[in-house]
Amino acid sequence: MVRYELMRPDEVADARRRTPVAYVPLGPLEWHGPHLPLGLDPLHAHEVALRAAREVGGVVLPALFAGTETVRPAGPGPQSLATLGLPPDVRVVGMDFPGNPVSSTYIEESAFGVIVRELVRNLLEAEFRVVVLVNGHGAVNHQAALRRIAAETDRPPSQRVVYHLAFLPDPDARGPGHAAREETAIALGLFPERVRTDLLPPPGAPLYYAEHGIVDAPAFDGHPSPDFALPQDEHPRTATPEQGASILEAEGRALARSVRELVTSLPTG
Ligand SMILES: [Zn+2]
Repeated sequence: MVRYELMRPDEVADARRRTPVAYVPLGPLEWHGPHLPLGLDPLHAHEVALRAAREVGGVVLPALFAGTETVRPAGPGPQSLATLGLPPDVRVVGMDFPGNPVSSTYIEESAFGVIVRELVRNLLEAEFRVVVLVNGHGAVNHQAALRRIAAETDRPPSQRVVYHLAFLPDPDARGPGHAAREETAIALGLFPERVRTDLLPPPGAPLYYAEHGIVDAPAFDGHPSPDFALPQDEHPRTATPEQGASILEAEGRALARSVRELVTSLPTG
């Protein structure tokens, strides 16, 4: 048993004595296109943490459904309205594009920081020696906030707080994008019955960033496709449960590997 909320105190104490690691999986409730559940990011992070904990030990906190985002600049440039084909005069926070019927639950950055810091403080006081912030959400300011909290609360060599992005670096360096092929594959690996790619435009029809809130990584980086539509090889319909299963397996193993290294580096006694 590695799920903290289901563990009894004796089990937590035993787990902590064997491997003094606490994983904090997190991410916002966020628009992920019409075809994916809102909780994908934290649930993805939770699954990666569970896999690592089953391999190397430690306890996994319940997913923290919290994350932050920020207002998109007009552009041009990375993350801008212009690079996503959105009009220059709209106010857009994160993936909450003007046509979305449901908005994301982003927490303002400083409030988000307080929640995460409090969790980390609790876990360090509870004598966990490694706290891993396992993040499933790619927003730039969200990741920067978590990196900063990890750096500021880290107490090497005896108590470590580290940031870990659930996604692995893409071999072709493109990154996962948002609600596109890779995240859809991950969702198919997690809960195939909750994925509805039939709600997307039919095969061959353009899937516009601005219309669906589904975006490839190069577009976020300031290099959109010429018509501001998702490249066909990034289309969610190309995702399979098998891709998802192998992504999750690799991500779990990567986290397990880095946690094992951290635990080995702790001074004894
Ligand atoms: Zn996501």
